[in-house]
Amino acid sequence: MGYSYTIDKPKLEDLLNASKIYWKCERQCKEKCPGRGSSEGLKPPFTLSKSHDHIPQPERAQVLKVRDEIKERALNSNDAPRSIIREALLTQSDECLANMTGKQAFRKLISRARNGKAGFGFNSKCLSQIEIL
Ligand SMILES: [Zn+2]
Repeated sequence: MGYSYTIDKPKLEDLLNASKIYWKCERQCKEKCPGRGSSEGLKPPFTLSKSHDHIPQPERAQVLKVRDEIKERALNSNDAPRSIIREALLTQSDECLANMTGKQAFRKLISRARNGKAGFGFNSKCLSQIEIL
């Protein structure tokens, strides 16, 4: 696969009861990629309905995984953001590090997670899940 998606429909609060979920390429906003698809609930299989206009980025899956780990720890510990980020990055390959969006972005991620933005953690789980289909 190597493509990452965000949920297009339904709204986050209706997600658990939705029988069909529509996904759009995470690059749609910035780079206008037409890639989209759907799945029956939050389970495989994922059906691609429109192709992407760029090559797959398998390393993105790794980045998303690290983001999940950081978020998880932000929520379940009182550790300083600095040490959470450092430890998460210690286990990553150079290739993955090169694709990271930067430590500043991770700090924001931690404070957003800790401030309890609605549905934040749940959405990220969906992203990782669809990534491995
Ligand atoms: Zn795309």
